[in-house]
Amino acid sequence: MKIYKYHHMREYSNMKIGGIAKELIIIEKKEELVEVLKSREKTFLIGNGTNTLIPDRDMDISFISLNKLNKLEDLGNGRVYVESGVNFDDLIDFTEEKNYSGLENLAGIPGSVGGLIYMNGGAYGSEIFDSIEEIEIVDEKFEIRKIKKTDTYVTYRNTEIQQKKWKVISAVFKFEIGFNKEKVLELKEKRETRHPLNMPNLGSTFKNPEGQFSAKLIIAAGVQGHKVGDMQVSNTHPNFLENHGDAKYSDVIEIIRIVKKKVKLDSGIELEEEIVIIED
Ligand SMILES: Cc1cc2nc3c(=O)[nH]c(=O)nc-3n(C[C@H](O)[C@H](O)[C@H](O)COP(=O)(O)OP(=O)(O)OC[C@H]3O[C@@H](n4cnc5c(N)ncnc54)[C@H](O)[C@@H]3O)c2cc1C
Repeated sequence: MKIYKYHHMREYSNMKIGGIAKELIIIEKKEELVEVLKSREKTFLIGNGTNTLIPDRDMDISFISLNKLNKLEDLGNGRVYVESGVNFDDLIDFTEEKNYSGLENLAGIPGSVGGLIYMNGGAYGSEIFDSIEEIEIVDEKFEIRKIKKTDTYVTYRNTEIQQKKWKVISAVFKFEIGFNKEKVLELKEKRETRHPLNMPNLGSTFKNPEGQFSAKLIIAAGVQGHKVGDMQVSNTHPNFLENHGDAKYSDVIEIIRIVKKKVKLDSGIELEEEIVIIED
């Protein structure tokens, strides 16, 4: 493993906000992850940082990266072994190369495979767990275990992994034959026009309440375009927050507070954050 003391974390969040961490640890073997988790008090596992808001102060936190665990192996019969540090984009490319189908609706999500599994990420009616057979985790007792999908629970943007703070090391996916390239190109283009990809952001800020769309609730509450410092509720996609340059962690917290309050007043609905906020 490699350890970087007092590491600047701004570039590790897609919001481009972040202060100095006590250390950043790059894991090279899964056993090192167990060792690090056992020996540190405050840890945070960071994937691609596309869903995580990092405080912009000095942090007494050991950040852990699994980006070097990035093995992808075809096991045959549509089964693929994937380590959690693999970029989701690379997994999509791999399925295209092997002519495997199952993840097309999720193409374009910028996370790591571990990050997507952690929150059962999804898009356009599909979720990553639809294509998973088994996951390998470090559990709350620091034991490395394999769990079949049928022996764990997942719901919309929520998993047992999240609830029990397990760490994902790898997964075995099971795909059908027949990669749908047209669908991938169509959905990637949709993302390019509907999402503010030219601005630092963390994707959807809030989960969609049952039977509702957060974006619509935000528009109805009149807060689309609202600004706090350099942080703005996106005019391109109202469920996204954009960093227009030098936004602070506190600006994000404040704008979230305002959006939630206005939506609650307007619709009576309590929005719940989808993004992960590391507490200050
Ligand atoms: C432009 C844009 C579009 C997006 N579109 C979508 C979308 O359509 N659908 C969707 O679901 N999401 C979307 N997202 C959000 C984000 O990409 C996903 O949530 C993704 O799964 C996060 O992965 P990550 O590696 O970046 O996670 P991070 O932000 O690094 O981490 C997120 C959480 O996952 C945990 N985590 C990361 N890796 C592991 C691991 N190996 N084991 C255990 N926990 C882990 C972290 O500790 C943290 O709590 C979008 C984001 C952006 C910026």
